[in-house]
Amino acid sequence: MSDNKHTFKAEVNKVLDLMIHSLYSNKEIFLRELISNASDAIDKARYESLTDASIAEGGDEWKVELIADKEAGTLTIRDNGIGMTRDEAVEALGTIAHSGTKEFIKLLESREVENNPELIGQFGVGFYSSFMVADQVTVITRKAGADANHAVVWKSDADGTYTLEDGEKDGKGTDVILKLKEDETSYLEEWELRKIVKQYSDFIEYPIVMEVTRTTPDPEDEEKSVTETKEETLNSQKAIWLKSKDEISDEEYNEFYKHLSHDFTDPAKVIHYRAEGTTEFSALLYLPEKRPYDIFYQDYKIGPALYVRRVQIMDHCEAMLPTYLRFVKGVVESSDLPLNVSREMLQENKVVNVIKKNLIKKVLDTLGQMKKNDLEAYEKFYAEFGRILKEGIHHDFERKETIADLLLFESTTTEPGKTTTLADYIERMGEDQKEIYYITGSDRASAEASPYLEVFKEKGLEVLIMTDDFDDIIISGLGSYQEKPFQSAIKGDLDLGETDKEEQKKTFGDLLELMKEELKDVVSDVRISGRLKDSAVCLVAGEHDLDPKMAKMFEAMGQDVPQGQRVLEVNPGHDLIGRMKEAFAENSGSEQLKEYVGLLYDQALLLEGDKPRDPVAFSRALSKLMAQGVSM
Ligand code: ADP
Ligand code: MG
Repeated sequence: MSDNKHTFKAEVNKVLDLMIHSLYSNKEIFLRELISNASDAIDKARYESLTDASIAEGGDEWKVELIADKEAGTLTIRDNGIGMTRDEAVEALGTIAHSGTKEFIKLLESREVENNPELIGQFGVGFYSSFMVADQVTVITRKAGADANHAVVWKSDADGTYTLEDGEKDGKGTDVILKLKEDETSYLEEWELRKIVKQYSDFIEYPIVMEVTRTTPDPEDEEKSVTETKEETLNSQKAIWLKSKDEISDEEYNEFYKHLSHDFTDPAKVIHYRAEGTTEFSALLYLPEKRPYDIFYQDYKIGPALYVRRVQIMDHCEAMLPTYLRFVKGVVESSDLPLNVSREMLQENKVVNVIKKNLIKKVLDTLGQMKKNDLEAYEKFYAEFGRILKEGIHHDFERKETIADLLLFESTTTEPGKTTTLADYIERMGEDQKEIYYITGSDRASAEASPYLEVFKEKGLEVLIMTDDFDDIIISGLGSYQEKPFQSAIKGDLDLGETDKEEQKKTFGDLLELMKEELKDVVSDVRISGRLKDSAVCLVAGEHDLDPKMAKMFEAMGQDVPQGQRVLEVNPGHDLIGRMKEAFAENSGSEQLKEYVGLLYDQALLLEGDKPRDPVAFSRALSKLMAQGVSM
């Protein structure tokens, strides 16, 4: 291997291989990806040239050129953007830096991409899509500001290797030269390129130009014709967010969204407005219909693109939206910010904070309107993003009530899959009901089967069913809604007026004391239950303890969970408890009785889906008991 020959990282080969051999439709999106890279490169150069004039190299006619050479069978995508150094080229064109690569490969293998090739852009492997139409790709690139003889020539046939050589390049920026496959030469035709640019890249703010040759009749002599070649701009370069609403069609809105987000579905909602006053800005925001695959990743990019006087300052301004609204995509442009604003400055910037407040309000208002006017659409949105929106209750104290208005939950009275708002729940509460009841669980079925709901069922009380893992933290943070406190069905002492606890305490007091003594190492108390109907016992966490499900989750993640000991609750109406009381009256020192107490505790563990403390001993004791039963 000569020293300019390099091998691709394994994941690149895999992506290339799948891309070349399993994608047959929508191949034309390679052009969108390459133009998008060119436009990104120009964004960077233009932005850097604001503080370092040498980057512009004396010209700032930013543009992307398409050069179709029919003789050579090549299509070149040229930009005069930032370019790449040798090291940058190795890094950018020989590896895949994104954390979603594994998922992407899985997706490719599952053939989902075949039907939705737009996913390619989302996964940030756009450059490699050029190999869908080309069997050789050459990249000639020179970093803006570097000498002409400092260019790099990168070349690959997608055979697992690429070469890198030193080269020369007059203009700054990058040429991507595609040697088109034999049956892909339609991408050299003017009409085809025009169509693709119009469809996918119309909004690119730099001109995408191409030389076109026209032959027209000679006005002087009808027998002859004149042929002229001139440069034409193929895209309209409209900054759609600066136009007024009535000038923009739904289709234009949708295409721009897809360009921004690399999403392939139309957005669920468009929010477009201009704020005037002390701080002026334009915002075009979108609520997607589907949750992006990477929204829970660390490196997920939050926030709208930020423009200042038509210059893109950054593609994601995270200072402008809180993380719980990270599903919102869009563009914000303001003339009240300096062009050379840095990421660090943004966090502290007054104007940014005013805009941020305004955007949050607008998004939350829009969601409220959606919920009110088109519940079905809102429910769809919520199914995708409710889990994220909900984080706001924890993080945005100031707006937690507003966000709580937007929550939806299933409940023991909604039909499966249908939800209720908290306000509607309260509306249905009976006069005596003082609290909002909820139960947490991994899914509706297991929550509904829980013994903790027995008395609620008996009394016909509606209980909200919460199945997101952090719901309990969210609800604890919220505390109450419309002045009604929340009460967990599985935590704390519950009094639904069903049992006269004081009376029962007198009756069962001695037995409870014995149980407490026997179980003193595992529970903090044994008490009469206000929540059981059919089960004999259950374990209950303290009001302020972590939900047992959450505690388990944290433990699984290797975290120490300061968990108070739980309380064993006893159902005084249960036969077994009654019999145990009688046995206790006969012989308070009975060994068998003590064994039963242990078994009851293990049963309570089982009811929670946990294991008995010592499964072998438990099973033996149970068999012994059953044997007694059989012999009777
Ligand atoms: P993404 O654009 O999502 O980062 P791509 O596969 O499209 O992923 O491109 C990979 C990287 O290659 C880019 O991030 C950029 O660093 C570099 N790159 C690609 N095309 C160009 C270009 N025309 N000019 C400068 N850098 C480029
Ligand atoms: Mg790209």
